[in-house]
Amino acid sequence: MKVSDYPIGVFAGIDAGLGVKLEVVRELGIKTIQLHTPAKASRTAEQAEKFADKLKDYGIVITVVFLGFEGETYETIARTAETVGFVPKATRQARLQEAYAIADFAKLLGVSAIGSHIGFVPHNRHSADYKEVTETIRTLCDYLAKNDQALHLETGQEDVDSLLQFMDAVQRGNLFVNFDPANLILYGVGKPLDAVTKLGSRIKSVHCKDALATAGTPGVDWGREVPFGTGQVNAEEFLRTLFTVGYTGALTIEREIPEEPLRQKEEIGQSVKLIEELTRKILG
Ligand code: MG
Repeated sequence: MKVSDYPIGVFAGIDAGLGVKLEVVRELGIKTIQLHTPAKASRTAEQAEKFADKLKDYGIVITVVFLGFEGETYETIARTAETVGFVPKATRQARLQEAYAIADFAKLLGVSAIGSHIGFVPHNRHSADYKEVTETIRTLCDYLAKNDQALHLETGQEDVDSLLQFMDAVQRGNLFVNFDPANLILYGVGKPLDAVTKLGSRIKSVHCKDALATAGTPGVDWGREVPFGTGQVNAEEFLRTLFTVGYTGALTIEREIPEEPLRQKEEIGQSVKLIEELTRKILG
């Protein structure tokens, strides 16, 4: 593989949820983005066309559209478990319907991968809840297959063995992984590099994000997100391990500090430089 085979990306948003603004992406000269779901009012055919034209103008390609739903919050690990993805029962069916609409919008933008934090998968695989969540994700995969789209599950809310077991239970060929090494540290669910090796070719997209483990109770208290290359991920070994398992997708920087946009932009710029340096060093 050559260095140029791994385009650098950034997690971006236009009018809702997480991610940096498009103007920042453009100013930093970054050529790919993962896009957080735009607000409902923006998800029309007319808006898709306008947005696609704008991206073409900027020379930016969307690699993944990430699902996001109203009511989700990541303020604590417990609140994440209660509110995020398809695990909370009260919103499950409505969110499934909304996911279809988001996938159709992504299709209008020419995007063939949908990313998702599905939430904390129940631990007892014999429970009714586990079966229902499995069935929901299978149903979503089948809908996406009709759109020629894949589903990339974001890592971090369960350990890698539980994730593999869940994916095998879903039994769908268009189900893959969006690997976020920092999440494993933030949630205290295992070592990122071991997980990359175990997941191997199932990894189809990644977040270049870093973190420090909590000094409190892992799995109860959050760790702390820090700029890529300054935490406990070990950025160089992370990239080396990804390349070793045959990863060829985009290297998408994620840095969620929306309350400090100037620092966010500066740190993303530094991450771009770091990834360029490391890929040159590793691949020569
Ligand atoms: Mg992430």
